[in-house]
Amino acid sequence: MLPCIEEKMRQKEIDNLLNWYYANARKLPWRENPNAYGVWVSEIMLQQTRVEAVKPYYKRFLEKYPDVLALAEAKEEELLKYWEGLGYYNRVRNMQKAAIQIRDMHKGIFPTEYEVLIELAGIGPYTAGAIASIAGDEKVPAVDGNVLRIMTRLNGDYSNISEPATIKKIREELFACMPECAGDFNQALMELGATVCLPNGEPKCEECPWKSTCKAKKRTIISELPVKNKPQKRKVEERTLILLSGSNGVALRKRPVKGLLAGMYEIPALEGYRSEQEVLEYVKEIGYHPLHVKKIEDHVHIFSHIEWHMRAFLLRIDEISDSMKTDTANDFFFVEPEEIMVKYPLPSAFAPYRKYIETKK
Ligand code: SF4
Repeated sequence: MLPCIEEKMRQKEIDNLLNWYYANARKLPWRENPNAYGVWVSEIMLQQTRVEAVKPYYKRFLEKYPDVLALAEAKEEELLKYWEGLGYYNRVRNMQKAAIQIRDMHKGIFPTEYEVLIELAGIGPYTAGAIASIAGDEKVPAVDGNVLRIMTRLNGDYSNISEPATIKKIREELFACMPECAGDFNQALMELGATVCLPNGEPKCEECPWKSTCKAKKRTIISELPVKNKPQKRKVEERTLILLSGSNGVALRKRPVKGLLAGMYEIPALEGYRSEQEVLEYVKEIGYHPLHVKKIEDHVHIFSHIEWHMRAFLLRIDEISDSMKTDTANDFFFVEPEEIMVKYPLPSAFAPYRKYIETKK
């Protein structure tokens, strides 16, 4: 670890980092009395989601599923509802798979050894390292994008952090010098990456405990590091949402079991941008009688590899018979607005349109 620092100085720099962490660590719910389950839930939630956004989800999730056995027994739709808004829904599905593995293979006791954790569904080297070090005091690093950024800057290292070889090298360097308080050390690095050695814009070097040894600072090359692959261009998909409602409720549709937002619910949509006339014709074609149509606002939702550019129409239809409440040909089914709020997991891509379908007309 810290290869830029002579060995006799390393302990001093580790101490500097730890002292900085003890003085500056944010108070976060998952840091109070950490146990393996809580650390795991927080780490999975924090992938791709900001700390402030995660806090209420974490609290709610732990109230509903206080331990690994409760999670193993959860109903999938209910679980997805509790994850609604966090995105990347396979994360929570994998959590349930891991919970079942723990129940069935580890007598329901959450493991804290890295080599055991890494075998569980959805747990990679970073998460296993975080749980093992924070909850199990194991001297193992937890290397994520934050840590890679800090280490390449600290060492003035132009290695590409998207390359597995770079990740392996940095992990091995950290491994060799983990202090006894490995959990605190890993959390200190996470904290430094989240609050000081920031990814975009200027890092707050004057607040950094490593400012006197950091090579990127010394050589004024901070803005050049870390080196990483350019993100792939996202594919744009145009969609026309049809917010169909009548006295029998509003129409929802279940998404396919594979692919983007697998198994979640959605507001029915047609591919491409459609005119008001085309939407009306489509709705009549599938057997409903439109009474009123109104174009509402457009929205763009960005996923990691895809952008949805959404156009939307609000359609009020004539009362429908019970047989039409479940339209198997189009996978539509009608539900009461209140049910959407409590029962059906609706991805955040549809959040701007919720106000139209959760309000009783
Ligand atoms: S001195 Fe600046 S660039 Fe170097 S590790 Fe600290 S915050 Fe990052």
